[in-house]
Amino acid sequence: MTNRFSLESRELETFMGQMVVICPRCGGRADVMEKANEVRLSCFQCGYLQMKQSGTKYIGGAFDVHFRLPLYLQTGCCGHVLWAYNQEHLAYMRQYVEASVRTSDGANRSIESRLPKWMKQKHNREGVLRAIKRLELACEKG
Ligand SMILES: [Zn+2]
Repeated sequence: MTNRFSLESRELETFMGQMVVICPRCGGRADVMEKANEVRLSCFQCGYLQMKQSGTKYIGGAFDVHFRLPLYLQTGCCGHVLWAYNQEHLAYMRQYVEASVRTSDGANRSIESRLPKWMKQKHNREGVLRAIKRLELACEKG
């Protein structure tokens, strides 16, 4: 079994250093950053600022893990919600989906990834890539 998938399999946790969320005050684009033991929410548009101590993390949905605010990068896709913590996370998903296109020339290879199963299904591929593109455009606009 050769490992033709060259991207490293990354844990979701490695994308949590900075998360882009919807500002609770103005609905604009805000950042959630964790440094040392402190979490900081700051809005680019209205200047809203909120700090708290790091604590329980709420992992696995379209919200940030500290304040549980809705993620800025989320969109409906194939009957699911495709979401990313930040642009790096989004780029990782695109690379993954594009790479799995290139390696789909033979028998089913099991590629190690933390992405949800529906994102890896062949019949969803086009829809997933379109959704990622939409979010990339949203990043550029913001
Ligand atoms: Zn704001």
